Amino acid sequence: MATVAFIGLGNMGGGMAANLVKAGFDVTAFDLSTVALSAARDAGCKSAATAVQAIEGVDFVVSMLPSGRIVEGIYIDGDKLLDAMATHTVVIDCSTVAAENSQRVAAAATARGIRAIDAPVSGGVAAAAAGTLSFMCGGSEEAFAAAQPVLEAMGANIFRAGDAGAGQTAKICNNMLLAVHMIGTCEALQLGVDNGLDPAVLSEIMGKSSGGNWSLEKYNPYPGVMDGVPASRDYEGGFMNLLMLKDLGLALDAAGLSQSSVPMGSLARSLYTMHAGNGNAKKDFSGILELFSTDKE
Ligand code: NAD
Repeated sequence: MATVAFIGLGNMGGGMAANLVKAGFDVTAFDLSTVALSAARDAGCKSAATAVQAIEGVDFVVSMLPSGRIVEGIYIDGDKLLDAMATHTVVIDCSTVAAENSQRVAAAATARGIRAIDAPVSGGVAAAAAGTLSFMCGGSEEAFAAAQPVLEAMGANIFRAGDAGAGQTAKICNNMLLAVHMIGTCEALQLGVDNGLDPAVLSEIMGKSSGGNWSLEKYNPYPGVMDGVPASRDYEGGFMNLLMLKDLGLALDAAGLSQSSVPMGSLARSLYTMHAGNGNAKKDFSGILELFSTDKE
């Protein structure tokens, strides 16, 4: 049975580790939170007292952590996991971080003869629990191939975008586009409603016309149009505005480095900053409809 060390069992990592157990992997979990570790044990993982202990001799290390500083801290500067790791181990970092963080981890791994990929995900907590995440990977073809069995146990769509850091770049491009088309969708729906249209009828028309897009058709932001989406439950659950802001920040940082022009992404970040600051930081990002639907009396 292949062995996996899983580091970071929060909202996303908890469900992902549980799916590895279900697929037959022998999973050892490590998290700074005792609550997260206890939930991981309930899902069938073993637990370790330290990250170094968790990775001893394992075939794979999977990490799902909040930031690039923490990811570099785990692998390179703080816990120094790469120094303690067997050379047959494959590192799969699923955290959303800057491409440079992933490139530094990959370079440090390669220098020690260890294969490593960045594999950030699309799909939220529900997809993590259901094992239907999309993985956008960066790393050598060999490292990507070696990671396949683990990725397949946690996801439905698995892509290699290019070399180290390319997975992170694909992720921020995707989420910047998502931010922009969500705002455009809210703006168009509210314009229709303000001019007497039923948002469900307008959604159906635009969905079959050139305005069709994922925000409109799969994640409709207007309350009452679609069941089972955050708009139908006062924007609770789903993808928090705070996380959208994190991804837009990474996108704008990358644009700064590459001197790319991202006027729509910049405006989207300003609008999401305003919306999050209006008490919506932890609510779903589709609630940005609120910026357009203020009382006009
Ligand atoms: P989370 O805060 O719920 O979980 C992070 C976990 O990491 C926590 O349990 C925390 O205790 C643990 N941790 C932090 N520092 C640690 C350390 N040094 N050693 C061990 N454990 C440590 O976050 P999340 O929502 O699961 O997000 C994780 C990553 O997934 C982030 O990079 C996020 O951007 C990305 N992501 C999240 C979503 C989502 O919908 N939540 C969607 C896509 C991608």
